[in-house]
Amino acid sequence: MSDVTFTTDISALYSVSSKRAALFNKEISVFTIHDLLYYFPYRYVNRSQMTQIRDINLAMPYVQLKGQMLGFDTIGEGRNERFVAHFSDGTGVVDLVWFGGLKYVISKYKINKIYVVFGKPTVFNGRINLSHPEVDEFNPENNTFVGLQPFYNTSGKMKRSFLNTRSIEKVMAMAVKFYAGLMVETLPPYLIERNHLMPIGEAIRNIHFPSNDAMLRRAQYRLKFEELFYIQLDILRYASERHRKYKGYVFSKVGDLFNKFYFNYLPFQLTTAQKRVIKEIRADVGSGRQMNRLLQGDVGSGKTMVALMSMFIALDNGYQACLMAPTEILANQHYETIAPILENMDIKTELLTGSIKGKRREKIYEGLKSGDISIIIGTHALLEDTVAFHSLGLVVIDEQHRFGVVQRAKMWSKSQQPPHILVMTATPIPRTLAMTVYGDLDVSVIDELPPGRKPIETIHQYDDRVQELHQFIRREVEQGRQVYIVYPLIQESEKMDLKNLEEGYEQIRAAFPLYNICKVHGKMKSADKEEQMQLFVSGKAQIMVATTVIEVGVNVPNASVMIIENAERFGLSQLHQLRGRVGRGSDKSYCVLVTSYQLAADTRQRIKIMCESNDGFKIAEADLKLRGPGDMEGTQQSGMPFELKIANIATDGQLLQFVRSEAQRIIEQDPARNLPENMILWQQLDQLHSQNVNWSSVS
Ligand code: ADP
Ligand code: MG
Repeated sequence: MSDVTFTTDISALYSVSSKRAALFNKEISVFTIHDLLYYFPYRYVNRSQMTQIRDINLAMPYVQLKGQMLGFDTIGEGRNERFVAHFSDGTGVVDLVWFGGLKYVISKYKINKIYVVFGKPTVFNGRINLSHPEVDEFNPENNTFVGLQPFYNTSGKMKRSFLNTRSIEKVMAMAVKFYAGLMVETLPPYLIERNHLMPIGEAIRNIHFPSNDAMLRRAQYRLKFEELFYIQLDILRYASERHRKYKGYVFSKVGDLFNKFYFNYLPFQLTTAQKRVIKEIRADVGSGRQMNRLLQGDVGSGKTMVALMSMFIALDNGYQACLMAPTEILANQHYETIAPILENMDIKTELLTGSIKGKRREKIYEGLKSGDISIIIGTHALLEDTVAFHSLGLVVIDEQHRFGVVQRAKMWSKSQQPPHILVMTATPIPRTLAMTVYGDLDVSVIDELPPGRKPIETIHQYDDRVQELHQFIRREVEQGRQVYIVYPLIQESEKMDLKNLEEGYEQIRAAFPLYNICKVHGKMKSADKEEQMQLFVSGKAQIMVATTVIEVGVNVPNASVMIIENAERFGLSQLHQLRGRVGRGSDKSYCVLVTSYQLAADTRQRIKIMCESNDGFKIAEADLKLRGPGDMEGTQQSGMPFELKIANIATDGQLLQFVRSEAQRIIEQDPARNLPENMILWQQLDQLHSQNVNWSSVS
């Protein structure tokens, strides 16, 4: 059975002229009746409720009044001319106001008739105004005021061509009337029954023209279910295919190196979370499946140790392992912490970055190829085609959000079979988002910090309190600590940002003539940048003035203060990430968020969350709620490949979890995909693929 709504052009509706059709196409990507029916309202207003004028308060987004016109006025002249109708319901008077040559609008209204008016209340000259309200003659039999009225998003262009929410509503009413009943069900009957879902046609009817709240909720639930379900089904189908296609190396034993390290060299006790994650990884790499695991853990939670012990497992089973970091500094740091341990254990380890050249580099290539080198730590340099391995079994990628899917795929090609992949990130991604964006990546979480960490104290400071801030810096530096001062860098106004940074730098130099101050920003040559960073890492510089280039992974335990200028311009995750640069040593650490006095409400909220919480997951959840998933860090790079029309990752987490389990059940029961009752599912996926971007390209 085919669904005519997919193939029928919107111009089939007689109220859609070719001009309107063009607007629908261009402005909101609505081409077919199906597209139109899936163009959902963003809001509903209960048109059966009347407000009394004396009860109006300005917090009401809209009011609906029933009453009479008392008289009309024309006020002002020329461009300022406006027409006013004084309107009363017996409990008070409001002014209905029209600007700009709309005299004809009011000329049709009569004094003795009863009207229903609808609009947003504002105050002007001490009187309540509704500007450009909707006005309809009151008709007790007229059922247009029963139930909830839909509101649709429109663009400026559409509005100028009189294709506003009311006209879309009219077009939609036609589409629903003629086509909703013809829609072909998109879910198998057993799913609909088992989950008490509304049939598709009814859901579409009620999402646009709900007869009451309960029906609206059922329609929303059904459509969200469908939307999230198909995404999960697609992801899980893809994952199961991949598991079938690619076998993973089997690391069957936990051998000598792992045990030797665990019993002789491990400098501390693993946290319970670290132990759990290592177990998860062990189970994965021993299963015969190829591991694709995302390891999330707040800054300082000890991910490196987990990575190291996973690499031992690879080595114990006769494979090589590599650890890839996004910057040279980070790669160096990993090498410096890991190499001494490995040397003690007689494990051959090398570092490969862009600055290692000539003979030395050639030798590393040879060692990797012959298998002489067991562990390689490096940067993007590892991705180059010239790098070949003897038997690469495990790839660990640090700070994943700096690496794209392409780079990960590249590592696959360096081995006969895809190596196991462990991706680590300190930018926590809320579970629901991870399930969607990373699809078939399994997720491990280190949700516990090693014991003895002192929480970082976060302080909000206004930007005119420079003296206090400098005093605070001086106090810390005099106690032998180091300080970061970070400025935002936003691409569009790069010049201005750099100016901010330069000014800040000069100001700090003037205030602290006796200290060494280094400066780092993204526009510097990488050698200069490394040199400046090194000044700070070595402790020669007490203060580092920088843009967000220091965001990722840098470890200077002696740094105890992070000052973030223009903190209002950073997102929550980024603030948290920056804050994570301090609090790594035994000293009490501080993070100072400097802002101007004028802050938008959500910015104030962000700052407040930062001052109250050190928990990266809480912050990521809050960030998701405040900003929505599209803007989340970590998702842009991986490219959220689809747009949700009705479900909301931030608030529909439970449903997401549930539909995922439904999808999982289906994949397990019908792995070869030949049960007749499920045909509709695979057809539907194909249909969605032909319409949308390929979801499964993300992994
Ligand atoms: P991140 O997760 O940010 O990469 P690291 O792996 O760099 O964290 O660990 C931060 C610090 O904590 C390191 O100095 C590391 O040696 C130390 N560390 C890791 N695990 C433990 C533990 N279980 N107990 C004590 N210290 C630990
Ligand atoms: Mg790290």
